[in-house]
Amino acid sequence: MREGKMANTLYDALFAPLEGSARRLLLLPDGRTLSGGAFAAMVARFAGALVAAGVGPGDRVAVQVAKSPEALAVYAATVAAGGVFLPLNTAYTAEEIGYFLGNATPRLFLCDGAKADALAPVAAAAGAQMLTLNGDGSGSFAAAAQGQPERFAAVPRGPGDLAAFLYTSGTTGRSKGAMLTHGNLLSNAAVLAEAWRFTAADVLLHALPIFHTHGLFVASNVVLLTGGAMIFLPGFDRDEVIRLLPQATSMMGVPTFYTRLLDDPRFNRQLVEHMRLFTSGSAPLLAETHLAFEARTGHRILERYGMTETNMNTSNPYDGERRAGTVGMPLPGVELKITDPSTGASLPQGEAGMIEVRGPNVFKGYWQMPEKTKEELRDDGFFITGDIGVIDADGYVSIVGRAKDLIITGGYNVYPKEIELLLDEQEGVLESAVIGLPHPDFGEAVFGVLVAQQGARLDPAAIMAGLAGRLAKFKQPKGLAVVDELPRNTMGKVQKNLLRDRFKAQFAG
Ligand code: AMP
Repeated sequence: MREGKMANTLYDALFAPLEGSARRLLLLPDGRTLSGGAFAAMVARFAGALVAAGVGPGDRVAVQVAKSPEALAVYAATVAAGGVFLPLNTAYTAEEIGYFLGNATPRLFLCDGAKADALAPVAAAAGAQMLTLNGDGSGSFAAAAQGQPERFAAVPRGPGDLAAFLYTSGTTGRSKGAMLTHGNLLSNAAVLAEAWRFTAADVLLHALPIFHTHGLFVASNVVLLTGGAMIFLPGFDRDEVIRLLPQATSMMGVPTFYTRLLDDPRFNRQLVEHMRLFTSGSAPLLAETHLAFEARTGHRILERYGMTETNMNTSNPYDGERRAGTVGMPLPGVELKITDPSTGASLPQGEAGMIEVRGPNVFKGYWQMPEKTKEELRDDGFFITGDIGVIDADGYVSIVGRAKDLIITGGYNVYPKEIELLLDEQEGVLESAVIGLPHPDFGEAVFGVLVAQQGARLDPAAIMAGLAGRLAKFKQPKGLAVVDELPRNTMGKVQKNLLRDRFKAQFAG
């Protein structure tokens, strides 16, 4: 921060250093590069356009736009203008967008020109002004920014002020707007940059969406804070990733990125010999994938765990052992405990229970949902994550499942992960998902959904026999189904709610 200038916590740390910088910041797949200075000038013009559109401190700016340098600049510009950035999944329908705009009441809504006709009434109903920003950087918002100056004095904002709303993915119930402050985002970026040794020499291959915490905050903020560059891809395309990996030093991914790369023989040791780091998160990385990746490349993927509401909570160590099937230890400044889901009392080491976390990374609450906030965020600052986990004797945390996926059959608790791990070991099984289905006698019955390895034919009776000696009777699936693939959302999470819906009549009557 320069003398005489008021502070804007996040802008000063992430974006101000780019002003006038000739260093490359964004490397685009068509070979173009954008310097830090060019990006900062675009941010200034966009911030001017936001202010001209009436965006003031605390106002929400909602966007449903394709990933592009311009989309990233809207995030930076919103922060500079003192607003609250609200990115929305590009897959959401007009009806879903209607809910988000109605709930968040943004001053401004940016969407792709191709969707403008469908979304205009939705924006109008929420009282938001609508402008367009297309994937190629054109649109009415870009046009409005044209004449704006290339310098902008960032609006003062402190660590406790809101910087972003990210809506939870909402696989149960309605999505909630998680309120994240400048301090939440900056503290987590600083902790991750240090833990993962990011420097100005890094070139991160960025193929994640930027409407989600992983691509927007974990990936982009860490690189921006440390002065490196990003190969900025519109999405994950295996050919493009393989073509561009030689220019990268590091990559952050969801597990499906890594399984898709492993499916390609061009992805080999030589291709990634020069790489410094691969990280994984947002969904569980199977131990099998971790081991196959190491066997193929010599790299051990560094798995970490976080969520929209908390940013990142735990990480495997950079230098120490990266243990397959675990999410590592709490990051510096993060307190993590395992509690009894019904009483909230701490459980002894080694027992599975609710993961609760506290630290500067934890959000302020859900937007206009004080009841929900009170249910999940304790008065003492611990957030009840909804994830069930266990800590081993060396302090490594493993995620056993989501609390809502816990199966209660005949009064006994069954954690799906335990059964899934055994199913995955059976001959011909590629992967599995275990769910609870309504059952007239047991309340819920354990049910397994399987995907076969390529070319394999699964024999459910043989698979059941394979489990028989290894699992208590009540944990054994009462039925198995084979499907072509498991339903996953964009972040690679298996959508168990869809499976429960599809198979719900299995044990009816
Ligand atoms: P989101 O808010 O969309 O980032 O989703 C957060 C949820 O993803 C967490 O509460 C976990 O259930 C899950 N998750 C994130 N990282 C991991 C991981 N490394 N292993 C298992 N589950 C994860």
